[in-house]
Amino acid sequence: MSIDFGSMEKLAEGKTKIIYENPDDAKVVFMVFKDDITAGDGVKHDVIEGKAVVDWKTSRDIFEFLNRMDVRTHYIESPEEKVSLVKKLDRKIDLEVVTRRVAAGSILKWGNVEEGTRYDPLITQFHYKDDPLHDPMLDDGYIDFIIKAKGGTEYARMREINAEVFVLLEKAFSHFGIQLVDFKLEYGIMDGEVTLIDEITGGSFRLWPYAKENPDLNQPNVLSELNPSARLDKDTYRKGEDLDQVQTKFEEIAGITGRFKDLKIV
Ligand code: C5P
Repeated sequence: MSIDFGSMEKLAEGKTKIIYENPDDAKVVFMVFKDDITAGDGVKHDVIEGKAVVDWKTSRDIFEFLNRMDVRTHYIESPEEKVSLVKKLDRKIDLEVVTRRVAAGSILKWGNVEEGTRYDPLITQFHYKDDPLHDPMLDDGYIDFIIKAKGGTEYARMREINAEVFVLLEKAFSHFGIQLVDFKLEYGIMDGEVTLIDEITGGSFRLWPYAKENPDLNQPNVLSELNPSARLDKDTYRKGEDLDQVQTKFEEIAGITGRFKDLKIV
């Protein structure tokens, strides 16, 4: 029998998900995926039939993988298609935390760097989550100030978890000949501790297939080793490809993350 959300209270509705309270357990909530896809802080918007199922699968498989790897996440289980059960937070943190291995996207403009520049160590930046303000990036000096003023453990933990999760997912995707270029994660506070929340789907990261069988990824610029034009991620949508093509790429991602359960990551 499927869950009757019609009788449940909607706690929040975002661009791609709805959160419902759980009448049987106040400590957990339902996260229901939608078919909507947006870009440019919600300015570009479409509905792709079947996207919710594919995103739900991708997010489920990634969170189950991260839970197995002992990352502290909000994810519990997925009771039915398009629905995940997650732990309720004490407080959401209104930040988007971006980590990059390879220069792509917005950093090419503000960072004035060449596409394909490789970052080792990884770089991480914090954005204040606010569509009308276009998610402004927080100044490093400001972050240092809050870290000192407030004890700063939250920012330090988010930076640490972002790097840890990046390395885990980078290794996982490498088994399928794909480079994790960058991603964005979100956090909240649960039982007093920083916890990974939200979804992780084709809209959260950039994935570029390897251009050759054994790429040399230990060089200052790895663009020649990768094939960005075969990208699997939401840049296909941002760049205006047709919606069927976007859905096909998202299905490909779900096909890969569906095999994460067989991986032995050390
Ligand atoms: O656009 P930019 O290069 O800053 O994006 C960095 C990473 O963060 C990309 O993987 C992108 O998909 C992701 N991102 C996101 N949500 C946003 C902005 C960026 O998931 N609002």
